[in-house]
Amino acid sequence: MSVDRFGRHITYLRISLTDKCNLRCVYCMPEDMTFRPRAELLQDEEIFRLVRIFAELGFYKFRLTGGEPTVRANIVNIVRQIAETPGVRTVAMTTNGILLSRLAQPLAQAGLKRVNVSIDTLNPDKFRKLTRWGDVQDVWEGVHAAEAAGLGVKLNAVVVRGYNDKEDVVDLARLTLYQPWQVRFIEMMPFGDVADFQQAGVVTQKELMATIGAELGELVPVNEGRLDGEARLYRLPDGIGTIGFISSVTQPFCASCTRARLTADGRLRLCLLREKEVNLLKPMRQGASDDELKGIIEEAIWWKPWGHGLSANVIPRNRVMSEIGG
Ligand code: SAM
Ligand code: SF4
Repeated sequence: MSVDRFGRHITYLRISLTDKCNLRCVYCMPEDMTFRPRAELLQDEEIFRLVRIFAELGFYKFRLTGGEPTVRANIVNIVRQIAETPGVRTVAMTTNGILLSRLAQPLAQAGLKRVNVSIDTLNPDKFRKLTRWGDVQDVWEGVHAAEAAGLGVKLNAVVVRGYNDKEDVVDLARLTLYQPWQVRFIEMMPFGDVADFQQAGVVTQKELMATIGAELGELVPVNEGRLDGEARLYRLPDGIGTIGFISSVTQPFCASCTRARLTADGRLRLCLLREKEVNLLKPMRQGASDDELKGIIEEAIWWKPWGHGLSANVIPRNRVMSEIGG
């Protein structure tokens, strides 16, 4: 069992499978992003070994992310191997959905249970502007393919002032009137070289609720506004789906954090918004035994930071979001 010094049980591992992506969202990475050489990234067998070790330490929930996880070679086999690892209860994925129309079915057959699909606006022009070249129709087809394949689907939108903070948010929220989906709005977080842009463009949950409420009626809390994972849930007065807010900036949920992150280059990142990382790739390639790796992981988890320091303007500078995985 992996427990930190604050008594939090850490059971959820988010694995970044690659730092590469087929889009370049403005809030995530610079257009001229340089990616790591393949040899510096965890190889398939190294991922499977670490998943087995984490599962033996009590981790049972795994999410694959990136960069864009679906551009990783052998993605279907990677999902299958992880899903078949003893102790693993769920494998989910966060994806931009571009390749899902082709991959949803094989991924579901391989054992994937859920996808969170990022879609920041339904407007094709704005989508292209936010992602620098994406076609929202591809994502939309991906969402439908995921549903048809029996995957649980949630939609995620990062809100950026001046890009998608007004009618786009309302259009996305409106989907929950006739779809039983969960549409979640994410407050933009600051990282690395993109931090100034991100801090200038953040739109708070409070503001979003006012924008949606003015058009579609006041949002009604679900579960008395308690956290569902990282989101606080609401519904529209006549809605059949739910609207979630992931408000890491203005309403942090660090006290209930259960997660750790594995970067594509094999570092265990203890908090999304703190620079502290522990290198697992190096000892693994130097021949560390399973027990030695377990010792390194348990020690790292024990020292997991309590929470982020955004309110004190402490911003993680050592990586951008696409390298950590969100
Ligand atoms: N490429 C996949 C995707 O876009 O869903 C997975 C990786 S992406 C880094 C994971 C999530 O992080 C996405 O929902 C994305 O919108 C979100 N994200 C990226 N940069 C962010 C930022 N600066 N603040 C908040 N969320 C961000
Ligand atoms: Fe790629 Fe996802 Fe980052 Fe957009 S948010 S650039 S889709 S990794």
